[in-house]
Amino acid sequence: MEPQPKPESQSLVCNNNHNINGFEDYDIIRWFEDVAENAGLVQTLTLELIIQQNFGTEYLRRWLGDIEIQDMEPNALESLYTSLVPIASHADLELYIHKIAEGNSSPILTQQPITTLSLSSGTTEGRQKYVPFTRHSSQTTLQMFRLAAAYRSRVYPVREGGRILEFIYSSKQFQTKGGLKVGTATTHYYASEEFKIKQMKTKSFTCSPKEVISGGDYKQSTYCHLLLGLVYSDQVEFITSTFAFGIVQAFISFEDLWREICKDIREGTLSSRITIESMRKAVLDILSPNPSLAIKIEEKCKELEMSNWFSLIPKLWPNAKYVYSIMTGSMQPYLRKLRHYSGDLPLVSADYGSTESWIGVNVDPSSPPENVTFAVIPTFSYFEFVPLYRQNQDFTSAVDDFIEADPVPLSQVKIGQEYEVVLTTFTGLYRYRLGDVVEVAGFYKGTPKLNFICRRKLILTVNIDKNTEKDLQLVVERGSQLLNQTRAELADFTSHADVVNQPGHYIIYWEIKGEVEERILGECCREMDASFVDHGYVVSRRMNTIGPLELCIVERGTFRKILDYFVEKGAALSQFKTPRCTSNEVLLRILNACTIKRFHSTAYG
Ligand code: AMP
Repeated sequence: MEPQPKPESQSLVCNNNHNINGFEDYDIIRWFEDVAENAGLVQTLTLELIIQQNFGTEYLRRWLGDIEIQDMEPNALESLYTSLVPIASHADLELYIHKIAEGNSSPILTQQPITTLSLSSGTTEGRQKYVPFTRHSSQTTLQMFRLAAAYRSRVYPVREGGRILEFIYSSKQFQTKGGLKVGTATTHYYASEEFKIKQMKTKSFTCSPKEVISGGDYKQSTYCHLLLGLVYSDQVEFITSTFAFGIVQAFISFEDLWREICKDIREGTLSSRITIESMRKAVLDILSPNPSLAIKIEEKCKELEMSNWFSLIPKLWPNAKYVYSIMTGSMQPYLRKLRHYSGDLPLVSADYGSTESWIGVNVDPSSPPENVTFAVIPTFSYFEFVPLYRQNQDFTSAVDDFIEADPVPLSQVKIGQEYEVVLTTFTGLYRYRLGDVVEVAGFYKGTPKLNFICRRKLILTVNIDKNTEKDLQLVVERGSQLLNQTRAELADFTSHADVVNQPGHYIIYWEIKGEVEERILGECCREMDASFVDHGYVVSRRMNTIGPLELCIVERGTFRKILDYFVEKGAALSQFKTPRCTSNEVLLRILNACTIKRFHSTAYG
């Protein structure tokens, strides 16, 4: 017989929403260890709570009807829910979310009216999706940050009252026709009470005032983040951004901006680049002339410039204990550059979450980013896992490389198995496919530790070939290794499956920093073509039903233009992920206009 819920477990689940502000580091870790220990039961109770809170909404009524749930046992309710409510994708919920966006405040997905919507993964999916955002979203973000900070401080303690150099940015916010606020989830969070509470509770303060974070122009914000980060350089305890791309782009800009920044530090002035009045005022209020600091930084920068900025972070921020950011998944290609800037400083890979829900915490901050796993937090959402099996030898034109089995609850996942994550959230998403592929690497107490594998969606496919973002990443890694013999490095990349011209073929776009001989680039192109191991691709290349891979070298600054394009459309730098494959016409126009050299693979000769 299944264990009955214990009253203390119920209070563990409820702590999700209450009293978290009173947690000290020790308490929050003990709380997590308790819920992780009882993860299966906590999940059942979390689902019960979600259904109780939202029973009678249009969506749940559609699937559950008027069943009396009040007196049901939590286990029976879980079985009923998973047998009657179907697995859904964003497209299945779009109609409901659209009604909410139009200003319909009846209980559609949640009993509490939704007043705010978040934009999710526009940059990975090509199209931005609306997802409901509630107070619960900010509260779990706060809880997540405090939990992660508690684990980090066990290994890398930071000084109370210190500063964090945070490369964080709000997106443009706008209103829907029905008057709902729309922005990225991080934007809503930075504007929330919880963001202030986090600083108070973790006793670490961000270097930049809110006017810099929410300025709405990421170039101006980056300048001010760097400037203030240096003004407070002795107090900075760690350096962070949501995704590793944020830190890398900031320091790439610093290589060009440092003289101007030093001038501002010396004279207590602010560059005319900063045109946003509120940002100017907030930063000028902090600045005062500091010639001795400016000289110190200038000297260090001159030395750093000679060594191609190796170890920039510890040299300029001598008291920083670590660099903290998401370094897994689509951020892995930036790891090399991040290591270059970080020198000996530990890199701590940040936690696993999405606009839809936080998922897992890194409980082992000292593990290298390549090995990091995320322990699922069983109170944040109700998690299900769709087992995925690879079908490598398949010749049919499937949409996807995987065969699915029936979803299993968190308590039934198996080590070594790959799954797609499915979420039921407090914000009105029911059995919602997140689109991420994870592998269960082990358990932390009773909760699974996940390896992030990739986005599930195929990105490169012409006919029977199937390649995911991860496949492309590995291929680009192989190809770019040939650049090691040169002084050049790969700055960024994306791809496109050209099916207009026959035979169709893959195009990979590279932006390179430094000079490379054409001969070597030709070899890189050949190496990448030969490195796709997908059987469908190999067979098609041999039969020439897929043409030779094309490598296009784009001029410096092309990927900056792509970033600008997304930011213009409402994305935030904080959540930006370079699309690794695109069919977007505007992007292709930018990429093709900026292409300066083209190579065609000679593999499969
Ligand atoms: P967004 O929709 O902008 O909130 O992005 C969420 C997506 O970013 C997730 O579904 C993942 O694909 C990816 N992501 C988030 N956290 C991580 C992580 N720690 N490692 C790898 N990918 C992540």
